Amino acid sequence: MRLLTIPVALALSVLCTAYPQPLQQANNNVQGQQITFDSFRPQHHPASHNNANNDNSGYARFDDQQVLRVEVSSMEELKKLEATVEDKNLDLWSNLRIGTVDVRIPSSEIEAFKAAIPFPSTVMIPNLQDLVPDQAPALNIQAASSWNYTDDSFWKNYHDLSTLNNFTETMVQQFPDLVTRTSMGFTHEGREVFGMTIHGYKKRQEMEAMEELVEEVEELVEEASSWWSWMFGSSSSSSSSEPKELKKPSKPKKHPKAIVIHGGQHAREWIGPAVVSYIAKELILGYGNSKKITRLVDQFEFTIVPVLNVDGYAYTWEHNRMWRKNRQPTSIPFCPGIDPNRNWGYKFATGGSSANPCSDAYHGSEAFIAKEPKMIADYILKKENVVGYIDFHSYSQLWMTPFGADCSKIPKDDEDIMEAGMGAAKALKDVHGKKFAVGSVCKIIYQASGGSLDWTYAEGGVKYSYAVELRDTGRHGFLLPEDEILPSSEETFAGVLHLANFIRKREKQWGYWM
Ligand SMILES: [Zn+2]
Repeated sequence: MRLLTIPVALALSVLCTAYPQPLQQANNNVQGQQITFDSFRPQHHPASHNNANNDNSGYARFDDQQVLRVEVSSMEELKKLEATVEDKNLDLWSNLRIGTVDVRIPSSEIEAFKAAIPFPSTVMIPNLQDLVPDQAPALNIQAASSWNYTDDSFWKNYHDLSTLNNFTETMVQQFPDLVTRTSMGFTHEGREVFGMTIHGYKKRQEMEAMEELVEEVEELVEEASSWWSWMFGSSSSSSSSEPKELKKPSKPKKHPKAIVIHGGQHAREWIGPAVVSYIAKELILGYGNSKKITRLVDQFEFTIVPVLNVDGYAYTWEHNRMWRKNRQPTSIPFCPGIDPNRNWGYKFATGGSSANPCSDAYHGSEAFIAKEPKMIADYILKKENVVGYIDFHSYSQLWMTPFGADCSKIPKDDEDIMEAGMGAAKALKDVHGKKFAVGSVCKIIYQASGGSLDWTYAEGGVKYSYAVELRDTGRHGFLLPEDEILPSSEETFAGVLHLANFIRKREKQWGYWM
């Protein structure tokens, strides 16, 4: 087995460039400041992708901020909560729905909020700042020396954008026959969005040459064995007749069907990019070692982009852990950022998104004006062969299907989409026991227009389109502890494998499958 480590010097230089001073020092700059809710409204920072010039203006703190879980029992209550959230520009942690909704509120505003929204509520996170330092960027530098993609140590920590990009580049370099670097385009701040396309075509050619050689040797052994039997009247060995793993491999196609997977549409949902990079790693290292993975990688092209909203993700590491949107300017100079997952072009701005540029759910001035959804949509249209799509988010543990914009409409493929989703959620649960609810965005959350899966299904022609909300169910919310990265990755990978296998078996009529 090959040992893959990022050169330590390179990795450290990447991190040092991004964080010229330890985080603790940066925090000291803002310690003691009275934090009010207003201070957490989106603030404009110079659009810079050269982090070396970061002036260490400070990483946002969240002292005395709480996450409150509100119980909503009717549509009337939901509308009231929606209006209050919009009016006070509160940070919704979970989606609006009848059921429970999580909202981040400064302690000082709790009483006023409860007066406006007198529904039953519980405090999920009493002091948000208590959870933030565990994921402080500087703490991860030490782990750099031990990154190793084969023993899972890389998935013991969250990683900044440079490190995740380094992971992708390393996969491309180390497995040139299996992995192709796939560029999606460039963001407002000039960062490249890129990922990996994983397919067994070239690698299989090499393996077939090797297998031919093995088969020749096996034939010789068989001949020798029958000669032995003829001479001495009994079989000396049964091993030569045992079936061989991978003896008759499926042949990859030059124009296979594709599955597109990405994380990080929403910047603060760090578990997404971590899980998505793990999925890539498992497909790559599993090829040739696992019969199931080998077959799937031979038959599908997996295009995997760990982080889509790279500007926003970088911003969560450098300025504000709670940033959700991208970093494009809006009509209000001090409220940058479009919610990429409200900006896709199917039934854009028809409900469940905000027209207020200062809102975290701002849908943008027109569909696809946000660069991130546009680049994925263009990629899918251009490829014409995409049959599966998963957009990873957090949190709530949901495996969601179309539609989100139009709640009176059911996809014509609903039965297959649901069956595949239920199977994926079951495969996921079988790993560590975590339950994921399955259903349309409309059914299990609430109306949300401009979301990715609606567009990929209705306009992109991707039959199996999903949005998945990963762990947890609210105990830590976006600040999922690092020791949950690996189990979350393992279970999610099982779900993805199930889904790909389901598509392979169900869609034989596409005439591609063997
Ligand atoms: Zn999200």
